[in-house]
Amino acid sequence: MKKRLLASLLNLLGVVGLFIWFRRLFKKEIIVLAYHRILSTDENSPYQYDEELISADSKEFKWQINFLKKHFDVINFAELSKRLADHKKLTGRELLITFDDGFSDNYSNAFPILKAENVPATFYISTDYIGVTQTFWFNEIVHSIKTAEQLSFTLGDEQYDFEPTASNREKVIQLVLDKLKQVSNQKRLSTIESLYKDLNFNTDNTPASELPMTWDNVVEMSGNNMEIGSHSVSHPILSKLDASELEHEIKHSKQHIELMTNKPCLSIAYPVGGEDAFTDNVESQSKIAGYEFGLSYISGINDVEALDMHSLKRMHVERYIDKEEFKMMLYFPELY
Ligand SMILES: [Zn+2]
Repeated sequence: MKKRLLASLLNLLGVVGLFIWFRRLFKKEIIVLAYHRILSTDENSPYQYDEELISADSKEFKWQINFLKKHFDVINFAELSKRLADHKKLTGRELLITFDDGFSDNYSNAFPILKAENVPATFYISTDYIGVTQTFWFNEIVHSIKTAEQLSFTLGDEQYDFEPTASNREKVIQLVLDKLKQVSNQKRLSTIESLYKDLNFNTDNTPASELPMTWDNVVEMSGNNMEIGSHSVSHPILSKLDASELEHEIKHSKQHIELMTNKPCLSIAYPVGGEDAFTDNVESQSKIAGYEFGLSYISGINDVEALDMHSLKRMHVERYIDKEEFKMMLYFPELY
């Protein structure tokens, strides 16, 4: 509430842009924005997948891109790499736009706007999902819980039995996703399988809007000023993998992207990306695999003087952030 008030006040004062300019006189920072999906939902029918993955609708996204274009140096990681090799080239207004996962709306909704505005972005894809007819596991889990007739299931050693109300469904979604982020990869996969059995859920008939992009989409974007980064092969929690699984997820995704796009895959965004989702070992293995940059999902901006190239922070763009808050997030990232 306080943030909103300050945002309105700043807007009233008409100091748009001045704050960014002023900040950068004293401090060189690199901002990385994190998006997932650009999508409109139908207000008249309940959205049956994970609404939290929607960052903005097309109209809002277009406004954001125009704002960023006006006030920042929007670049990609290839350009950032060049500028970091010679700090004199850094303007201090560098900003990178990133998308995680690789949903089809990245191609159908985000890409046309970025292309028309000639603004680069980096898309992090989980390579095994590209071109398949099933949505990402975390999105599918939300769907299975939102549509289940009964909410009776076993999770680990616990048996749960909830009334299938809307608020209980939200509770169960959190419970299940939290649990799945804590267990080993094999346990995660077997837990999902048993959950689907308990909820009587089958994975057929995913609507096209919930599917990942195709390789044709990815290749077209790559040929039009968009960068493709790795978001692993199957979107596991990298910190929960054994050594050979980790190597496969990190290396194979990079090789696959490079083979398909014929360009170097410079960066990886660690799936989920919180403090518990990647370790020092994940960072060093990524470095060994040849990634120049590793991106977390930890909120924040990156001070050039203390840059951690394998654990870059990002500012999250969420669907409930309005224009004033969007500006505010960029003027005073410390508040977010
Ligand atoms: Zn992800």
